[in-house]
Amino acid sequence: MIQLIRGFKDILPGEIETWQVVEKTAASLFEDFGFKEIRIPIMERTEVFARSIGEDTDIVEKEMYTFPDRKGELITLRPEATASIVRSYIQHKMYASDPVQKFYTIGPMFRRERPQKGRYRQFYQINVEIFGVASPLADVELIFLLATLCSRLGIEDVKAHINSLGCPACRPDYRQALAKYLAEVDDKLCADCRRRRTRNPLRVLDCKVPSCREAMADAPSILDYLCDDCRVDFDTVKDFLDKLKVAYVIDKRLVRGLDYYARTTFEMQTGVLGAQSAVAGGGRYDGLVKLLGGPDQPATGFAIGLDRLAEIVGSQQAAPVKKPPVYVAALGEKGQHEAFQWICRFGMEGINVEMDFGSRSLKAQMKRADRLGAAYVLIVGENELSQGSAILRNMATKEQVEIPIDNIVNRVKEIISNRG
Ligand code: AMP
Repeated sequence: MIQLIRGFKDILPGEIETWQVVEKTAASLFEDFGFKEIRIPIMERTEVFARSIGEDTDIVEKEMYTFPDRKGELITLRPEATASIVRSYIQHKMYASDPVQKFYTIGPMFRRERPQKGRYRQFYQINVEIFGVASPLADVELIFLLATLCSRLGIEDVKAHINSLGCPACRPDYRQALAKYLAEVDDKLCADCRRRRTRNPLRVLDCKVPSCREAMADAPSILDYLCDDCRVDFDTVKDFLDKLKVAYVIDKRLVRGLDYYARTTFEMQTGVLGAQSAVAGGGRYDGLVKLLGGPDQPATGFAIGLDRLAEIVGSQQAAPVKKPPVYVAALGEKGQHEAFQWICRFGMEGINVEMDFGSRSLKAQMKRADRLGAAYVLIVGENELSQGSAILRNMATKEQVEIPIDNIVNRVKEIISNRG
């Protein structure tokens, strides 16, 4: 038997309904806030990600699915969506008509991480990005959207964690203070962090290894190094989150390792997922559009881990099960040919009707109708046909009525809609 690739998974009926609820709820919320859907390819030239995510990150160093295509060009299955959306914003000169553009997209990402619960090699994200707005109110809007989405999905145990990363004016001072601290605790750090210490010191702050967490307990906080502009910016974010009654905690460990990230960064965390507590992460990445060859436009955005969000929603409420309102039990070839045309017409009317394509007994067909949860069964056999009628059985009350087959789709439609 051929099995799927390790770290990949099928999302089957029974589970997909929850995903659809999450996706629809998110899309309709984002549309209400003026975001437009964008669909970008799942593959890009490798440099799109190498340049934007950064050569020194785990993603680019060891997690990307990169391979030469048949002409030898290096292409990569996208490990995240932001870089592609920025590439698209620049390529189509979307900033020319209006630098302010708001997008969302939903789709699969690929990272060759160690598979474990909540971590897959193909996973799904919902991305939201705002281009062209430097105001911290754009960051507030994003955090507010995330909180609203969680509440619409009935997720209570979730909180925004926020931090500021400063800007190119104030971060170098902080980086220096951090480097000094890291040198002092070097012997307590894990091997990865010792390497990161010089190449990407900020990332040591969010290392999950317990000994590193302990060693970093007294590390200097970036919030003590913010310049006046960054301080006002962060105060505005907190002030408006308070005004909008969004619960948050300030988390000085929350960082992004790359230079183009600036100011507000945030994560939505929950206690219900065990180790993988982040359901969404985001922040301001003002330098990225320029870095990828576009104009100097600010930008901010987030990525929701859809697998994790669907897992939480699925564990809280049963997935809605779709049942066909009507099942046609057709007997004999004539009955089946008639029934098949009816189910096509029912489908066109927006009513799902199932039938049996074999030549099974009425009893077997009734059993299947029951298993599918059909509210009505429309019985049609040679006898009924010769009399120009069919029998409609209400499965709950067991009541049966005779219905003329002339215009039957509309007649049945009326009966089931009267039932409410
Ligand atoms: P990131 O793009 O790394 O900031 O991740 C954003 C969100 O995507 C995280 O908060 C997770 O919920 C989700 N995520 C990231 N990596 C994975 C993965 N390998 N499997 C499942 N979800 C993931």
